Amino acid sequence: MPQAKLLITDDEAPVRTALSAALDEFGYEVRTADHGFSALAEIRRELPDVIIADLHMPGMSGFELLSVVRRRFPAIWTIAMSGSFSGDSVPPGVAADAFYEKGSHSGLLFRLVKAMTQSERAAHPDRSTALAPIWIPRNGHDPAGEPYVMITCTECLRSFSQVLGGDPATIQHADCVHCSSPIQYAIVQQQHCRAAA
Ligand SMILES: [Zn+2]
Repeated sequence: MPQAKLLITDDEAPVRTALSAALDEFGYEVRTADHGFSALAEIRRELPDVIIADLHMPGMSGFELLSVVRRRFPAIWTIAMSGSFSGDSVPPGVAADAFYEKGSHSGLLFRLVKAMTQSERAAHPDRSTALAPIWIPRNGHDPAGEPYVMITCTECLRSFSQVLGGDPATIQHADCVHCSSPIQYAIVQQQHCRAAA
C-alpha cells in the first residue's frame, strides 16, 4: 500500500521533533503543525491518513481540532494525546479513535498508527450522523466586557468570535457568520497544569 501520511500537531517543538523522527523511522510520511489552525491549513493542503493531536494547545486546542476533523473529515483516523490524562482510553467528550499518553514509549504510538493504517476504509464506523460538539476554549472578554469564544465552522473552516449566551455548561448553537451553517458547540476550559516536558 502507499505510504501512510501522518500529521502530528503539538505546540511543543521537542515533542513534534521526537515523534516525527520516531514515526519517520517506521517509513511514514510525517508532517507537523504547531496548533489547530495550522493543522487545518495542512489538512486543506493534503489530507493525512492519521492525525495525532495534543489536546492542550494555545489558539485552537486539540479538543476543537479533533471535533472539526471528525465532523468535516470523518475518514481521517484520529489519535488524541495529552500529559493531563493517563491510560489508553479516549477522554470523555474527545472526538478521537485512540488516545496516547504523552511520555509513553513511542512504540505504543506506532502500534496505534499501524493498526489504523492497515485497516480497510470500510471498517470505519459510520460517523456521518454523529454530531460531535465543537470544543472551544473560553477566550476572554470583548471590549464591551462580554465573554466570548472563537468558533471554527466545520463547513467552511473559517473562524469567527461569538459572545457567550446561555448556560456555558450546555451545548450551544450558532450560525456561521461566513456561510450560515448551523454549528453546535460546547465550552472547554484550557488547562494550564501540564508539567514541563
Ligand atoms: Zn462557515
